[in-house]
Amino acid sequence: MNDFPQGMVWLVGAGPGDPELLTRKAERLIASASVIFHDALVAPGVLALAAPSARLVHVGKRSGRHSKAQETIDSLIVEAALAGHRVVRLKGGDPAIFGRATEELDACRAAGVAVRICPGVTAASGAAASLGASLTLRGLARKLTFVTAHVRAGETLSLDWASLADPEATLAVYMGKSSAGAVSRGLIEAGLPADTPVALVEAASLPEERQFHTRLDLLPLVARTALGDGPALLLIGQAMARRDGVTATSSAAFMVNS
Ligand code: SAH
Repeated sequence: MNDFPQGMVWLVGAGPGDPELLTRKAERLIASASVIFHDALVAPGVLALAAPSARLVHVGKRSGRHSKAQETIDSLIVEAALAGHRVVRLKGGDPAIFGRATEELDACRAAGVAVRICPGVTAASGAAASLGASLTLRGLARKLTFVTAHVRAGETLSLDWASLADPEATLAVYMGKSSAGAVSRGLIEAGLPADTPVALVEAASLPEERQFHTRLDLLPLVARTALGDGPALLLIGQAMARRDGVTATSSAAFMVNS
């Protein structure tokens, strides 16, 4: 295959989980790889597309669990490429969104290893598709912001709440489960109404997917009590208002509709 010679690295987007949400290019690259380094978030159905002879290497990256340091991952990728492998670095969603892609691109380039990116469906798109909702809304949600609420152990979340608290935007919060309280507080204090609609989608596009609808002031409660172990995305803004006549305020604390 001329776009995937031996000694090359592709950073491939695995999408949110459903193997059918892979691009055709991703599927072909996964099938052609001799070594695949993958995150914990990459679903088994995607890994099943690898060639039987391919070596699959789990490189962790799940907050709270043991994972390899980024520098270790960078050097594993480079070493495999220099050893003549066709290397796929498989990342959940899109590799260029909250995926530490720059470190891996830089490491490859510094070692003279050819590296390219194959994009993927990011979690926000997968979650919106599952909800049957648009992330933007004419006149009401003119802006879409992707933000990570990830904090290192011992640090507190520090985001520019004033710019994030935009009533005409949809805010997609990645890695926001454990920071849901800080997100809710920060946005409300910066002026976003407490009844702003929120959708939470856990394990979007996977068989174990669950969806919750709530409002900004109740977000911490829902995140704490309803979410499980899976990756979860928080979507905040008027575009997440339920369009089927059910409102978050008329329901009890929150709506579960999985
Ligand atoms: N590169 C990825 C994001 C990596 S950060 C992308 O483009 O989607 C990891 C975070 O993504 C998780 O903490 C969660 O917030 C979100 N995420 C990834 N897969 C998800 C899924 N299937 N359902 C819901 N959220 C998901």
